Amino acid sequence: MSIFTKKKENFMAWYLDVVRRAQIVDTRTEVKGMNVLLANGYEIWDRMKKMLDEKFYVTDHKNMYFPLFIPDKFLELESEHFEGFVPEVAYVTHAGKKKLENKFALRPTSETIMYHMYSQWIRAHTDMPLKVNQWCNIIRIDTKDTKPLLRDREFQWTEAHTCHVTPEEAVEQVKESMWIYGSFFDECCLPYLITKRPKYDTFPGALYSVAYDTPLPDGKTLQIGTTHNLDQGFAKVFNIRFQKEDGSHDYAYQTCYGLSTRVIAAVISVHGDNRGLIIPPYLAPLQVIIVPILFKGKEEGINKECEEVLKEIKKSDIRVEYDSSNKTSGFKFNEYELLGVPIRIEIGPKDVEKGGVTLARRDTKERIFVEKSKIVKAIKEAFDIITEELKNRSKTLLEKSITEVVAYDELESTFTDRNPGFVKTNWCGDEECADLIKEKLRAEIRGTLYGEEEEPFGPCIICNEEAKEVVYISRSY
Ligand SMILES: [Zn+2]
Repeated sequence: MSIFTKKKENFMAWYLDVVRRAQIVDTRTEVKGMNVLLANGYEIWDRMKKMLDEKFYVTDHKNMYFPLFIPDKFLELESEHFEGFVPEVAYVTHAGKKKLENKFALRPTSETIMYHMYSQWIRAHTDMPLKVNQWCNIIRIDTKDTKPLLRDREFQWTEAHTCHVTPEEAVEQVKESMWIYGSFFDECCLPYLITKRPKYDTFPGALYSVAYDTPLPDGKTLQIGTTHNLDQGFAKVFNIRFQKEDGSHDYAYQTCYGLSTRVIAAVISVHGDNRGLIIPPYLAPLQVIIVPILFKGKEEGINKECEEVLKEIKKSDIRVEYDSSNKTSGFKFNEYELLGVPIRIEIGPKDVEKGGVTLARRDTKERIFVEKSKIVKAIKEAFDIITEELKNRSKTLLEKSITEVVAYDELESTFTDRNPGFVKTNWCGDEECADLIKEKLRAEIRGTLYGEEEEPFGPCIICNEEAKEVVYISRSY
């Protein structure tokens, strides 16, 4: 399948090619940045939703749905206090030809509408913790270049918004969200770095923000999720006030966290190769495809064997299909490799003779013979091995994506003519130095490693003054 652009030679061309040919997204909508998430893409998103919903369930989150329209006054209320989303917001101003008295914003995120409701629901400390998750679409009309799933103007996401009685509980909630997202990203076999964003890059209104960044093959990084400790900022603006056990009153302590279909882009980018997608087995919509290897005169026997194997695998929870169409087996191989189906089962005359099947792995192309009675067990073992190997590969990818730099010259050369992944270096904490990094290198300080104090190993990379923090710098999408 050499028609593909090579991933190593031109990552973005490869990415766009794969997204189109594997039928993940169709961009021919004539609405910039608002695309069709096709069945193959949507099924991956559906699997992701199921994986996350299981985690929301065991941590007592409730799924709810809030309106798409947000009264403009809510956003105004927000922007009075924080530097909000206003520049990216799309508005509804008319009903037919009639101008509306009060315009509505199409949600760029749902804090304002949700917290307006929370203020009516929460009266006493016994009404908390309140943990609500919403699956919905988000609209942000920014002017930057759009790229399917990487930067869309409309996208699907999950946003969870919680309220707590004490600040300690909010801190614990941040940690719980990190378990939810971290274990989910692990199941997607993704490499990611968790950093606490610098103060100036904290979510408007938040005490601090934690972000998950994945290194992409072109050396840029992609933010695939965020968690914010909102403290009482929003609660004060939206009047989420409650009576404490001792009868006194206080405002709720809040957190929120979100991730979007960008995670699909990360999975495609990190795992895929020059033949197409590689989808981790537990995430793959279709996990196993059965392809007959037909020889003249033996079609019937092979077809019967394939049907039997299909029936056998279907008894398990494995998602399997049998492609009995009259395309050539070579064509089918290419097609399912493009789609990233983790396991292909080939059944030809020799396999039938020997009483088994050939099991081929998408990720390594490795092929092994498996006895018919052991097929399900062999597939499940293969799933675990593939998952483990993809995880290990990602671990290595993450380690390799970090370069340690002490001197400015070194930093500059690291960013010359390429995107270097994460550059680990020292920073004084001054925003002016961060601005210089932006200006000179078109790169940004992502933040300090979360949950791990790292001792500076040199002076500030920009001003040479004493460094306060070890930070990670990258160019990002
Ligand atoms: Zn400095």
